Amino acid sequence: MLTIGCHLSATKGFLHMGQETIQIGGNTFQFFTRNPRGSQAKELNLNDIARFQSYAEQHGIHHILAHAPYTLNPAAENPATREFAELVFKDDLTRMEHLPGQMYNFHPGSHVGQGVETGINHIVSLLNKTLFPDQTTVVLLETMSGKGSEIGSSFTELRAIIDRTELSEKVGVCWDTCHLFSAGYDIVNQLDNVLTDFDKTVGLNRLLAIHLNDSLMPFQGHKDRHEKIGKGQIGLDAIGRIINHPALKDKPFYLETPQDNLSGYAHEINILKELYQS
Ligand code: FE
Ligand code: FE
Ligand code: ZN
Repeated sequence: MLTIGCHLSATKGFLHMGQETIQIGGNTFQFFTRNPRGSQAKELNLNDIARFQSYAEQHGIHHILAHAPYTLNPAAENPATREFAELVFKDDLTRMEHLPGQMYNFHPGSHVGQGVETGINHIVSLLNKTLFPDQTTVVLLETMSGKGSEIGSSFTELRAIIDRTELSEKVGVCWDTCHLFSAGYDIVNQLDNVLTDFDKTVGLNRLLAIHLNDSLMPFQGHKDRHEKIGKGQIGLDAIGRIINHPALKDKPFYLETPQDNLSGYAHEINILKELYQS
């Protein structure tokens, strides 16, 4: 069965996100752990979590994906910026244990002129300071488009981060199809080769979630501009091959396409379900 959902606003709580997911025909969702600007997180509502958990079980929602604020920069030059990222990470990972066994995705960060090696050192240091042995959450590095000085636009950079993380069994990868395409991985014409490369460099067993987005910008443009499914440079045929590929078809997929409302996501989920060969 296709595991599919979209990014939802967390402001009305987990039960509400679960209900929205079912309403649009999905069975998983992504949410920001706090305001994307990285402000203080709302206090967890344990009653809402309990109600969500029983709703999720009844309705077949098995995976959810938390997303760290995208404004954090674990690779920043300024120590205060890195410390802030650590604080948020620590707090988020603690809170995630109220929903055990889920995933927490983050953008590795930008080295802003310090060089890739120094940037990777900072990211590894954040992971080694914040991951803890008995956490049940898997932390995912998102593949990035490589705009500016972003780290994580190549599989070798992801490998370097994982290799040096002490609790590397807690680390996986989240593909973003728009970002891969704009980073120069030809998932349209060379999907098998990209998968082989990823498997050799990182390991397919580390690939735990996929952000499913079309790309407004052309191949290898190093731009991060999402487009609606089938309306961009990736196109519906390639997206169909991605969700049906034997190595990918059982992964959870998350839409982060530009939509005005939930019915836009419902429409895309419908298209994808029709494309999916169960
Ligand atoms: Fe992201
Ligand atoms: Fe993404
Ligand atoms: Zn993006």
